[in-house]
Amino acid sequence: MKLHVIDTGFFKLDGGAMFGVVPKTLWQRTNPADDNNLCTWAMRCLLIEDGNRLILIDNGIGDKQDARFFSHYYLHGDATLEKSLRAAGFSFADVTDVFLTHLHFDHCGGGVRYKDGNGALELVFPNATYWSNEDHWKWATEPNAREKASFLKENILPMQESGHLKYVQPSQPSPFSQFDIFYADGHTDKMMVPVIPYKGRKVAFMADLLPSTGHIPLPYVMGYDTRPLLTLDEKARFLQQAADEQYVLYLEHDSVNECCTVQHTEKGIRLGETFSLNEL
Ligand SMILES: [Zn+2]
Repeated sequence: MKLHVIDTGFFKLDGGAMFGVVPKTLWQRTNPADDNNLCTWAMRCLLIEDGNRLILIDNGIGDKQDARFFSHYYLHGDATLEKSLRAAGFSFADVTDVFLTHLHFDHCGGGVRYKDGNGALELVFPNATYWSNEDHWKWATEPNAREKASFLKENILPMQESGHLKYVQPSQPSPFSQFDIFYADGHTDKMMVPVIPYKGRKVAFMADLLPSTGHIPLPYVMGYDTRPLLTLDEKARFLQQAADEQYVLYLEHDSVNECCTVQHTEKGIRLGETFSLNEL
């Protein structure tokens, strides 16, 4: 089995929203903001190459929405989903599985696009099964007012309409031999965090359970989270085990660090080392 980093570029989000109740005087030490209080975030996906399976975890923001939408997010950087896949030796048609941690637009927008010339939508990965879970799917397609702006129908519905959608069953073992799944309900309902045994370690694709190294101290919880107290608990449990077992935490949104470890300290769990995945 081989893991490939799939960078899809950077975007910006409000620093305050990203750190919830933590004051800027604290979070700006790790995540400096621009004049508009925006911080830069990666959209770093992961490709698992294993025999005849090619599993892409999340797929970035895509390019379907209009200029007004993208004017809020300041997309930048040279990396794209297509270029990063090609650099790993693959095309869109090679991907067999698209595993979506959750359906917020910065995690699943790259999986659906407009066909050339007409307004119809099509899957970017024509031969792939797209994976979500039933509870999250319902949550995303009948959204609450607070998350509605993050669940965009054009990103989501074509997966089902094309017949390519399948559900992971939380009560069952992972349908993937390549990883286990940690379910987290604090950020959104039934977000899925893959934990992948790799080179004698466990690589955890942290999604929005831990967006960046700046989010390691427990109260550093995103303002976006729907159940912040639950995130506290889920983070505490997950990071405890991650420190005990020296997990490799793969950071989807950290603009600088691909991976990190965490360690126990007198103040609680703190950052261990940072490194890139191919240093493993
Ligand atoms: Zn999210």
